[in-house]
Amino acid sequence: MYQLVIANAEVITGAASFPADVGINGERIAAVGMGLQGERVVDAGGCYLIPGGVDAHVHLQTPVAKYVSSDDFRSGTVAAACGGTTSVIDFVHPQPEQPMLDALAARRAEADGRVVIDYGLHMNIPVWHADHRLDRIAKVMAAGIYSFKMYQAYGPLCLDDARLYEVLRALARHGALPILHSENGPVIDRLRSEALAAGHTAPIWHARTRPATLEAEAVGGALELARQAGAALLIVHVSCAESLDRIAAARREGQAAYGETCPQYLFLTGDKLAGEHGERFVCAPPLRHETDHAALWGGLARGELQILSTDHCPFTAAEKAAEPGFDGVPGGLPSIEARLGLAHDAARRGLLSLSRWVEICCTGPAHLFNLPRKGHVAPGYDADLVIFDPRCPVEVSAQGLHERVDWSPYEGLHLTGWPRDVFSRGEQIVRDGEFVGQAGRGRFIAIPPVERAGRPAGLA
Ligand code: MN
Repeated sequence: MYQLVIANAEVITGAASFPADVGINGERIAAVGMGLQGERVVDAGGCYLIPGGVDAHVHLQTPVAKYVSSDDFRSGTVAAACGGTTSVIDFVHPQPEQPMLDALAARRAEADGRVVIDYGLHMNIPVWHADHRLDRIAKVMAAGIYSFKMYQAYGPLCLDDARLYEVLRALARHGALPILHSENGPVIDRLRSEALAAGHTAPIWHARTRPATLEAEAVGGALELARQAGAALLIVHVSCAESLDRIAAARREGQAAYGETCPQYLFLTGDKLAGEHGERFVCAPPLRHETDHAALWGGLARGELQILSTDHCPFTAAEKAAEPGFDGVPGGLPSIEARLGLAHDAARRGLLSLSRWVEICCTGPAHLFNLPRKGHVAPGYDADLVIFDPRCPVEVSAQGLHERVDWSPYEGLHLTGWPRDVFSRGEQIVRDGEFVGQAGRGRFIAIPPVERAGRPAGLA
């Protein structure tokens, strides 16, 4: 007799699908089998049962220029939970000369007490820290950080090649996972200045000054630096076919090269920037073309890209429209809640298998970021589980979502399939699509150091 049994589900994992009941005691999965008896039984007949989603790239209550992203740690994690995500990974942003451990403590103080699901953190390495504080990496890792984010764009965050190489070397020595925003920032800055000087302030110039070639060229260079440094490297928000080709080629050579993409690069095109409210669609890298969508779906299906994250960074319609030029628009899009639904709908349309859907949204990110006890439907793992109704019709709208933002880039899109019930460490936090959990119940996920430097455990 188990405390809770989820019965009659079609369990879908990254490897297989099979009918089963899942028995839960306390916070953990205790059994996966047939005919399990429970003190409480939730019938999942006709639905899929999948591991809770892991969104490894979110920006909650994050300062961007003079704005702060509109979802805080409570509203953003409620929206994530309602969308079937039970773990998120956000970022620590050390200020110039602020010790990384102080910045980590401050960020945790913002999240603890507010989050409704478990969360981890990546550590940003801006220029000053790359120059003066790489000796602190071991201490930061001992505090539960496994992944470190660098930027090849964005002024004070932008690391030149020599710094990037030094940081990659240091991270490889410690067995940390480097993750990288890859665009040729210095050249893009020139293109932006030229466009503005010529009076081109419309949102479409955001895309025209960030061409795919300058993303792919930076990705290729960064992968070569990682190879020289003996470091693994995850390229985040891969947006175009040309970048995917660079990652696939490095992987064929046996390099520990990984790629993430996001719903906006699979469902939205750059024309949005030329349409009504084009400013809302400003994000970096920019939205691209339908040919890129097809290429990226292929990359996800073939395993050349391992994870689908959101880069969720919402700003209200008024904040997006407040500045006259494209260069003043706070960058980022909301999608923390629709991620699983969007990807499931693509699987339903044959763009990838159901197992691959679970792998890129749930199991893959848990593996890549080494999250303990997350990402599997198996005894001993956290009972982070989603009962997903594959027939549920949904019309996406900002009103219907729980994200704290008054517009959605997917407004009016019709999907089939949505999470029905969500469990986090054995506790039901979503029932029939509505949040029923408590703020502050989520915990910081301290990630243990990895034995094998340079290659994350669990992923080829
Ligand atoms: Mn981001």
